[in-house]
Amino acid sequence: MRFAPTELTADERRLQADVRAFLAAELPPGSYERALGMGAGKDKEFSKKLAAQGWLGMALPKRYGGHDRTAVDRFVVVEELLRHGAPVGYHWVADRQTGSIINRFGTEEQRERFLPPICRGELGFSIGMSEPDSGSDLASVSTRATRAEGGWLLNGTKVWTSGAHENDWFVVLCRTAPLEDGNKHQGLSQVLVDLTSPGLEINGIPFLNGEAGFNEVVMNDVFVPDELVLGELGMGWAQNTSELAYERGGPDRWLSTYGIVEEFLRINAGTQLGERALEMLGWATARWWGLRNLSLTVARMIDDGQAPSVESSLVKEMGTRFEQDVLQRVLDLVDLEPSPAAASLFERLVAAAVLTGPSFTIRGGTIEILRSVASKGLRA
Ligand SMILES: Cc1cc2nc3c(=O)[nH]c(=O)nc-3n(C[C@H](O)[C@H](O)[C@H](O)COP(=O)(O)OP(=O)(O)OC[C@H]3O[C@@H](n4cnc5c(N)ncnc54)[C@H](O)[C@@H]3O)c2cc1C
Repeated sequence: MRFAPTELTADERRLQADVRAFLAAELPPGSYERALGMGAGKDKEFSKKLAAQGWLGMALPKRYGGHDRTAVDRFVVVEELLRHGAPVGYHWVADRQTGSIINRFGTEEQRERFLPPICRGELGFSIGMSEPDSGSDLASVSTRATRAEGGWLLNGTKVWTSGAHENDWFVVLCRTAPLEDGNKHQGLSQVLVDLTSPGLEINGIPFLNGEAGFNEVVMNDVFVPDELVLGELGMGWAQNTSELAYERGGPDRWLSTYGIVEEFLRINAGTQLGERALEMLGWATARWWGLRNLSLTVARMIDDGQAPSVESSLVKEMGTRFEQDVLQRVLDLVDLEPSPAAASLFERLVAAAVLTGPSFTIRGGTIEILRSVASKGLRA
């Protein structure tokens, strides 16, 4: 494992300035409800505006509506959007991972069908990995696809499926061949499933703060035509692992509580900050800078054709713990009973972080699992 230091080039800095100018014009303070990083709301119109700037599907090929740009270019755009607390929810999963795996593993027909609307910000995807009895031990999924004429019949239950009630499609990890010799990594496949398919039922699971977000998705004989099997039959485990690499290591794993610190500074503007507040700000700035450089290195490695799954696991492990620490350090400074209904944006953000913060180190793989991935990588 190696993190080679890197910096933004002049072109990448120009892109950063363009995104900042766009956000200042499109979403001036007070014109939108600032969110905690990727936990942001869904705004299809905003997603389309980003697409019109060429900032969705950036690293996807031009012939499918993408922009032939780099992972670092996407990093630059995403970092600015998340710092701003912009409503990135609708396109988030499709832009971060689904587009890339369809491009990498999909058929020509699937690329032509799904990538252009993803790049236009017109298609929202969810992730169909976790099940009631399969989370960290994902290879134990029991959703199964059985052969039917012209396709497959899906039966099983997915859980914690973020956004399934609002998105259009999801990618389901399922078993297409029975377990043999106890090797659970074999016989798994990924399929693309329309969330409005007959036989598919979406049951909301309210989040701690009462908001809709999570879902249980029950599939009873949901028909999936052959042309919607993603990649090779039986290669689902390898494909899913590479999908997870897109999920980890990006700015979404260390910026969730950034807005809280910025708001803290804004409401204290013009006042003399005490020693403890200054110490917190110095600590947070140094940590952000360090994590950001590690995360930027991961993007640079992807552009160099490497597969930095160990490095990205480490960034996620450190970044998500840090996001939680930021909240605690801010809470230590203020005398606050945060309420989601408070008039102050700072208090609303703090309340949201208190309620959703515990999930930072769970979603996308728990810290224990990430440590395990990183330690295996260090040993190799
Ligand atoms: C906000 C949020 C959004 C999510 N969105 C989605 C989504 O859209 N789609 C989706 O498919 N899933 C989603 N998830 C589910 C998420 O991926 C799982 O919660 C996560 O992988 C952990 O699985 P689990 O909840 O079953 O916990 P478990 O796997 O049961 O783990 C319980 C505890 O045991 C520990 N543990 C388990 N195995 C080991 C081990 N081998 N070594 C050491 N410790 C271990 C874990 O670290 C954890 O602390 C989401 C979760 C959250 C919190």
